[in-house]
Amino acid sequence: MPSSIARPTNPTLWTLTANPPPELARELPSRCDVVVIGGGFTGLTAALHLARAGRSVCILDAGRLGAGASGMNAGFVVPNFAKADPATVRQKLPRDKADALLSLVGAGADRVYATIAEEGIACDAAQTGWLQPAYGEAMADVLRQRARDWAELGRPVEFLEAPEIQDETGMDIYSGGLIDHSGGTIHPLNYLFGLAHAVLRHGGNISENSSVDRVERHGSIWRIALAGREIEADSVLLATNAFTIGVATRMGRTGVPLRVYQVATKPIEAETVARIAPHRRPLGDTRSNLFTYRLDRDNRLISGGMAINPIGAFERVGRAVVDRLASELRLPRHPGVEVVWTGVAIMTPDFLPRLYRFGDNFFGGIGCNGRGIAMTAQLGHVLARLALGEQAASLPIPLQSSRPLPFHSLTPLVASIALAHARFADWRAGQR
Ligand SMILES: Cc1cc2nc3c(=O)[nH]c(=O)nc-3n(C[C@H](O)[C@H](O)[C@H](O)COP(=O)(O)OP(=O)(O)OC[C@H]3O[C@@H](n4cnc5c(N)ncnc54)[C@H](O)[C@@H]3O)c2cc1C
Repeated sequence: MPSSIARPTNPTLWTLTANPPPELARELPSRCDVVVIGGGFTGLTAALHLARAGRSVCILDAGRLGAGASGMNAGFVVPNFAKADPATVRQKLPRDKADALLSLVGAGADRVYATIAEEGIACDAAQTGWLQPAYGEAMADVLRQRARDWAELGRPVEFLEAPEIQDETGMDIYSGGLIDHSGGTIHPLNYLFGLAHAVLRHGGNISENSSVDRVERHGSIWRIALAGREIEADSVLLATNAFTIGVATRMGRTGVPLRVYQVATKPIEAETVARIAPHRRPLGDTRSNLFTYRLDRDNRLISGGMAINPIGAFERVGRAVVDRLASELRLPRHPGVEVVWTGVAIMTPDFLPRLYRFGDNFFGGIGCNGRGIAMTAQLGHVLARLALGEQAASLPIPLQSSRPLPFHSLTPLVASIALAHARFADWRAGQR
């Protein structure tokens, strides 16, 4: 779990190809209507809604914009749950709450692309659709049902039979697969910078290198304590994701941190692109040792992986991910590694997003579970609605207690064991 704000010592594909970051004011106001702690997608989205609604809003981020998962991710825009079907959500929540959450999550990608259009954000936005190929007939049946459930909720989701998936991927190992036409890809750092520009344009304030230590109640006002100074606000939103520093500690410990490695190859040739991604659709299959890929605007392949053993993982995972791309996609030549980077994502124990109440008008939210781009667009909006005074009972994400996970510091070990088990399960099932 990030217990300090890492200054990325290595570049990411996104820092190498980004637009200029926004210029931020040096002066912080001494008071505003809402302070948002954390300037990733969640905090920026919440602040944008608040600024558009006419509230004075100030974002405080402990690092530079993009220092968290929002600057490190792979840019797959996926509007569903990584580990839950609509049917699973309906088992966990009352039917009306479940359907409200499903509708929210299913519309996440549409909200991302709508915001990009409304605010004129230049971030290589491509709503080409997202593919989930099924490995094995049993999984194809699961995805057939999943596609029906999402379609009944009004989402543009359908099941494609094996020949169509082969046309989409050039791979003959799948038994069909699901397509969500609302998914796609973005350049995540340019999306982040674009959201920040939009917040500033609507009158908001953003401050980097502003780590919040404490938030205290004084009468009807919150006092937000940063190194050497304080800001007063009527409401506070905590959008600090997996971090466990200062005021973020309690919320960060409610989820399991997962270190994820991302890799971009050198650009591949146009004939191969036409074979493996004729519609430039990103994909993530159903194997436990998940296989994913997408293209960037220059036809680099981007994929990712995790490490059972963290020692020396950076180079090792980078090589292994590109070797796997070359072998699974039968690339005519090994494309080589262009850049490897890493970040920390957070999983909640039930794989659903969480909203927390830390006091009167003090709320937080996490739980993007590897689907953070689409989910944060919705989570940020819901947090903004809370700060605007909407009653929690009417919201599509239930409020929960922010009890930290027991033995939180050991959870990375549990994640490594789970990964080893998943790879063994794939191997036993005869999967590559
Ligand atoms: C390597 C990787 C790949 C991923 N790939 C994808 C993908 O392809 N598609 C997808 O949908 N999702 C993906 N995700 C998940 C997604 O990136 C995240 O869910 C999402 O970015 C979370 O956004 P956020 O704003 O909640 O958190 P973050 O972006 O982590 O922002 C939290 C911010 O809080 C700040 N902060 C922390 N503590 C304090 C404090 N005390 N005071 C002030 N500020 C503080 C941090 O500096 C940070 O900027 C990936 C994640 C990782 C790590």
